[in-house]
Order: sequence, then structure tokens, then C-alpha cells
Amino acid sequence: MAGSTTFVIVGGGLAGAKAVEALRDNDFDGQIILVSEEELLPYERPPLSKEYLAGKKSLNDFTVHNSDWYRDSHVDLRLNLRAISLDPAAHCVGLADDTTVHYDKLLLATGSGSRRPPIPGSDAAGVHYLRTYDDAHALNSVLAEGSSLAVVGGGWIGLEVAAGARQRGVEVTVVETAKQPLLAALGETVGEVFADLHRDHGVDLRLQAQVAEITTSDGKATGLRMGDGSTVSADAVLVAVGAKPNIELAEQAGLALGSGSDAGGVLVDTSLRTSDSDIYAVGDIAAAQHPLFDTRIRTEHWANALKQPAVAVAGMLGRPGEYAELPYFFTDQYDLGMEYAGHAPSFDRVVFRGDVAKREFVAFWLDGDNRVLAGMNVNIWDVLDDVKGLIQSRTPVDAERLADPQSPLGELVN
Ligand SMILES: Cc1cc2nc3c(=O)[nH]c(=O)nc-3n(C[C@H](O)[C@H](O)[C@H](O)COP(=O)(O)OP(=O)(O)OC[C@H]3O[C@@H](n4cnc5c(N)ncnc54)[C@H](O)[C@@H]3O)c2cc1C
Repeated sequence: MAGSTTFVIVGGGLAGAKAVEALRDNDFDGQIILVSEEELLPYERPPLSKEYLAGKKSLNDFTVHNSDWYRDSHVDLRLNLRAISLDPAAHCVGLADDTTVHYDKLLLATGSGSRRPPIPGSDAAGVHYLRTYDDAHALNSVLAEGSSLAVVGGGWIGLEVAAGARQRGVEVTVVETAKQPLLAALGETVGEVFADLHRDHGVDLRLQAQVAEITTSDGKATGLRMGDGSTVSADAVLVAVGAKPNIELAEQAGLALGSGSDAGGVLVDTSLRTSDSDIYAVGDIAAAQHPLFDTRIRTEHWANALKQPAVAVAGMLGRPGEYAELPYFFTDQYDLGMEYAGHAPSFDRVVFRGDVAKREFVAFWLDGDNRVLAGMNVNIWDVLDDVKGLIQSRTPVDAERLADPQSPLGELVN
């Protein structure tokens, strides 16, 4: 690549920052323009619902690189600026300040935003969402000991905030429409483990419950009115009902988009290239063809934002690359830490190994042929590589041995 080449990255989250890093690590000596709507330098989001709320980390700790690094890397940083149009034929991105940037290759890393369901009252003061540092800062300031928080949605972010708030002495109610929290991600049996965890820590967990309205007084949220007429009073409300990928640019540019199981992301091949050969997409928006599972997978996982950019950058530089990592996710809630690897949108059964009641176990999601689709280690460490090996083998396992902690996981597949 000649020094006059311009690569543009739209989106200044972890994926955007990692793309810059990969370009310079690969001796790309052209111009790099990073456009991001947020005012802050790229930072990691997982601590926002965990260590930040627990007072253990501040923004500096999870900012990916400081401003000196971007200066030394000769990055043209355009922060606090939204990309509003994309013309693939002209190789141009239009920006909200009425300027246009030309690209030779473009990387879309626009991430996700919080879903905002049309619940009456959701615009009131005291109603929070959690996606950005500013959101976390606002939430942090209302979680005072003795106050109360109603969380709408029993997904990862809702539960992590519930845990953090309980640890700060906040009364917490979590309402969830499904039968168990995390049902879509983990299924009923493992969802129940998380339900018990939160009940044991004093969360008022209301399952199969619909929110009819966020109640207000003088324009400020006072709690929830449920579909059955019951009420939850709360000083603040967090709406955490999932994220939606920011695909407006891709859509406007006519790039191929997913639907159904692709959950509306930007379709990319195994090299993370979109339907336009000069545009790549990574992170939360990328519905990537997975070489092992032979299907498109789009996940909102930190690990993708961390690792996909290096593969996309290889493609942008004209080198072969393939993203074959297993989906990987982690969470920390109270004294429960877990890692999840694999992909099990549907499965035949779950096999447990270890002590579920003590929350020290590994769960395996199996298909009808006894192949391991996904595994989750809870408060048990150093097994992730073996769990991944079982998934990657695509070979049936003996379920009894899988459940037996005396059978080394590494010996279950030849
Ligand atoms: C509170 C919280 C906790 C999380 N915890 C975990 C966890 O424990 N484990 C885990 O695996 N994952 C977790 N995640 C998910 C993880 O943070 C995301 O998967 C990751 O941030 C995705 O990175 P990204 O770079 O693709 O997108 P993002 O981090 O969303 O960054 C995208 C950036 O692009 C900008 N942007 C969007 N559109 C435009 C535009 N048109 N023009 C310019 N800029 C634009 C956005 O403003 C944003 O700055 C968590 C997420 C949140 C919010």
C-alpha cells in the first residue's frame, strides 16, 4: 500500500481502536481517518456495568489508548462527529459537519445502541439506559445506599447492574417477560441458576411480567406499573432490553444485510468483507460467516471487537484472513464469574459437570448427536481451552464422562 492510500474507520469503540492498531502493526503507512460519534477516545464497555459501578475502575483504566498513542500513530481522529452517508460507488463517507472523506478501503465498526421500547413514561427523568460512559456516569450517581432501582429486562446488562446495585445497598427489582432471566442466551435450566443467584442476593425478581408503564410524578420516574396492575416503586429505572446494531450507513449504502438469525447485521464473509469488496465490517454489527458452524453469526461480544479487526485489516491490506474464533463471552455478578464459548441457538440438552448448587460447574450444550455446541465454566477456571477443543472437534462425546469431573475434558475427544 502506498503512503497516499486512505483507510477510513467509522466507529470509535474497541473495534475501531483495534483496527487502527492492526493497521499500524502491519506497517500500513497510508492515512487513517477514525470517525466516531462519541466525544471520548475509544474505550471498552464491559466495565461500565461491572467495575465502574463497583468503584473499582475509572474511565482511564478502560480507555483503549491515550491521545498520545493516536498522535504517535498518525491517526486523523474525528471525534464527536457522526458519519451520515456512505456512497460506495464514489468511495465517500459524508460527515455531520457537511464534510466528506474519501476512502480506498472502509471499515464499519459502528457497534450497537440500546433498544428503547415504546413504554409509556420512558422519556421521564430518572429513566436510564446503559451503553456509553455518560450513561454509566448518570446511573452511577443515582445508586445511593438505601435507594431503589427497577430494572426492566433480565439480560446480561440488567443483571450485572442489579448485582452492582445490590452490592451498594440499593433495593433492586428486576422484571423480565420470559420464564427465566437470560433465557434466549442460556436456556431455561441455566437461566434458573442466574435467577437463584439474584434471589439469594435479595433481588426481587419478577418473571413472566410485563411492564405496562413507567410511572411518573412531576416528570420524574417513580417506578413501574405492571400488566397485572401491580406496581413497583423505585427512585430510578434502568431499561435494559437489549441492543440493536447501528446499520444505518450500511443500509443506506445498499450493502447486504441479514435478517432472522443474523439479527439484522451487516453480512460479511469469513474474511469480514461485506458485499462491497472495499468495505469491511467488524464487531457488534458484523453477521459473519463462521467456518466451523457454517452459518452466519452476529454476537454483541467484546471478544469480537477485540479480535475481528486484525482479520478485517488483513483483508483491507490484500492479505488472506479468516475469522474462525468461537463466540466468547464473560460476565461477573456478585461472586459468580463465568466464561461462555460456542454457539447454541438451539440444542438438545444441557449436561452439567460439577456442583450447580455451589455455582462451581461447567455446563455443556449438546446437539442431538451429542456434539458439544457451547460450554460455560462458572467459577471454575483453566478449562476454557478444553471446552473450546470439545466444540471445535465437532465429534460426539460420551455424555456420562462429560458430566464426570474425574474424566479429564481433554481426553473426551481423540
Ligand atoms: C454496559 C455493557 C456491558 C458489556 N459487558 C460485556 C461483557 O461482559 N462481555 C462481553 O463479551 N461483552 C460485553 N458488552 C458488549 C461489548 O461491549 C460490545 O460487544 C462491544 O462494545 C462492541 O464493540 P464495537 O466496537 O463493535 O461497538 P461499540 O463499542 O458500540 O462502538 C461503536 C462506536 O461507533 C460509534 N458510531 C456508531 N454509529 C456511528 C456513525 N454513524 N458515525 C460515527 N460513529 C458512529 C458509536 O458512537 C460508538 O462509539 C457490554 C456492553 C455494554 C454496553
